[in-house]
Amino acid sequence: MNSVPPVTELMKDVYLINEFDGTNCYLVTGSDCALLIDCGTGFCDIRSAVENVTNLPVVLVATHGHVDHIGGAGQFKEMYIHRADTALINRIQKSFPARRIFTAGNEAVKRNGFGAKNVKKDEYKTKWIPIDGGHAFDLGNKEIIAVHTPGHTKGSIALVDKKDRVIFSGDNVCDALWLHLPGRTSVEEWLPSAEWLLEASRENKVYWGHRVPMLTSEYISKVVGWGREILQMHTKNSLLPVTAQYPEQIDGILYKTNTVFKK
Ligand SMILES: [Zn+2]
Repeated sequence: MNSVPPVTELMKDVYLINEFDGTNCYLVTGSDCALLIDCGTGFCDIRSAVENVTNLPVVLVATHGHVDHIGGAGQFKEMYIHRADTALINRIQKSFPARRIFTAGNEAVKRNGFGAKNVKKDEYKTKWIPIDGGHAFDLGNKEIIAVHTPGHTKGSIALVDKKDRVIFSGDNVCDALWLHLPGRTSVEEWLPSAEWLLEASRENKVYWGHRVPMLTSEYISKVVGWGREILQMHTKNSLLPVTAQYPEQIDGILYKTNTVFKK
């Protein structure tokens, strides 16, 4: 089985690397180096997918510290990631057992014939390089700027490629948005990040981390509206962490009733 994930050219110098229906990773090439945005769970050979596109030096950055976005980092010497997502909870997610468990439970990936047995051991002891919002990745003829967009995780970032007018938004706004996992922020703290993305989506294409890669302004606007409604529906945080979905439909936001407000 060929374990090099398929690559699609989205536009000149911008590529989608589809980790076999698991995670959408992206590669932006510049004149001096290339930026790989997320590296999947690490059950396939993402490094070769990158090297088939470019022989420029490659810099890896993660949109957030979840297993399916940082699990493949062991194929690279370094990974840039927001400071807030360098916690123990994130480091555990990059571990071999966590990657195996996650892959074993990923139906979309299993349909492509991959499972826990395909999860690769780390090639490098990858160095985590913490960054903050505003960090600029200089690719030579273009810069890609990290914008801190807390919500889905405390250290979620969006990568803004001004030259190509593209934003890579990770999992911070999407269908069936996950705001219920450990390491999340409150809905209240997430909302400004989503509102920022909505504004930015009027002038940029937005690509996210799973399924159909592109998000439209219309859809982002819908998700922002749901977030505002959640804040209106509650008066205070519950004592117990109950998972709720709003609206109660397949693409509604998943959140915990004890972390609606910042407090
Ligand atoms: Zn995630």
